[in-house]
Amino acid sequence: MAAISRNYQSALGYKFNFIRFLITSRTNKHERLTHYLSNVRTGSCWFAANVFLYILILTSCGNVESSRSEFALGTVCTITLFEHGKSRVYDDIFNRIREIENIMSVNIPASDINSVNASAGTAPVRVHDDLFNVIESAYYYADLSRGAFDPSVGPLVSLWGINSANPRIPSRAEIRETLPLINWRNIELDTETKSVFLKQRGMSLDLGAIAKGYAADEAAAAARRAGIKRAMIDLGGNIVIIGRRKDKNPWRVGIQNPDGNRGSVVGLVRTPEASVVTSGIYERFFEQDGTRYHHIFSPSSGYPADNELASVTIITQNSMIADALSTAVFALGYEQGSLLLERLRGVQAVFVFKDRSIRTTKDANFILTDRSYTVSNP
Ligand code: AMP
Ligand code: MG
Repeated sequence: MAAISRNYQSALGYKFNFIRFLITSRTNKHERLTHYLSNVRTGSCWFAANVFLYILILTSCGNVESSRSEFALGTVCTITLFEHGKSRVYDDIFNRIREIENIMSVNIPASDINSVNASAGTAPVRVHDDLFNVIESAYYYADLSRGAFDPSVGPLVSLWGINSANPRIPSRAEIRETLPLINWRNIELDTETKSVFLKQRGMSLDLGAIAKGYAADEAAAAARRAGIKRAMIDLGGNIVIIGRRKDKNPWRVGIQNPDGNRGSVVGLVRTPEASVVTSGIYERFFEQDGTRYHHIFSPSSGYPADNELASVTIITQNSMIADALSTAVFALGYEQGSLLLERLRGVQAVFVFKDRSIRTTKDANFILTDRSYTVSNP
């Protein structure tokens, strides 16, 4: 799998964003797969590569698919059913992921979220329950992080073009004009009618920091409904593991080395059934005059959050929560981010710093594998 992924990169000549996780286990044929996953910026090239991978998997496994990858939610989504991997079950899971994408993606013109954005400052919009639930949760994490996580970050994301093929550094004047539009308190939610109103004209929601987590939870739910007991859902690095390893040992999830090649890891997190999600400066960025501009913005400065962190990994049961928290904690930085996590139960974290030190929360089961990094827990 690793070799295949690398071939895509060289054959297509595209810059892939980096893989976030590597999972290995040694129990059966499917679990021996090593999963190298990447976010890609373009769907068309991905399609050809995807078909290639898909055929390879099919030819090696007959009718039952060991794993299926498709491009959705702006990233490579890979589902691995460790047993009973019938095509119909994969279809159901990917249908659910696409359903969520069609509602929540700002890149799909007819999506519910685009209707909400188009009606900013004008009228509330009744939305699908899925979208309402995610916006409600996003609002909660915006409040919890005192706005470091802010789903109304849309105008900043567009201004920088960070999720487009042509990102750029905006002028200070442009940033000054855009900042007043970023304010989660101006999102009005009506739980009775399930409608959303953005109070100011020009506001827009961007759920890029939370929607993949929700989709991963829903994909896992679809798998469970189909009777699947052991599986891995990986939506561009938002990982959900279902069930236990056959040998009853914990799963091991690799944490991407922020400075390394795709698939190289700084260490492993050992965990039972859980979700593992990382936010990092290496995922989506551009460089100009020797400075890196990445994709997680400080809603107060209008610039990419600039702190000592290279990445934050959150391990917890719910993937939407892990997704929201990894972005929130990254945007807050280590000190404030750890204080936020101390208030929560059942959430573990691994912080990788730019200076190659690593800290973890007390209960995180982390094993360092790259000796050029050091674990320096207080
Ligand atoms: P993630 O990779 O989950 O950390 O999410 C990053 C994505 O969330 C970006 O590509 C933006 O679309 C969006 N985003 C950027 N900054 C923020 C922020 N401070 N709060 C919420 N969403 C953000
Ligand atoms: Mg996130």
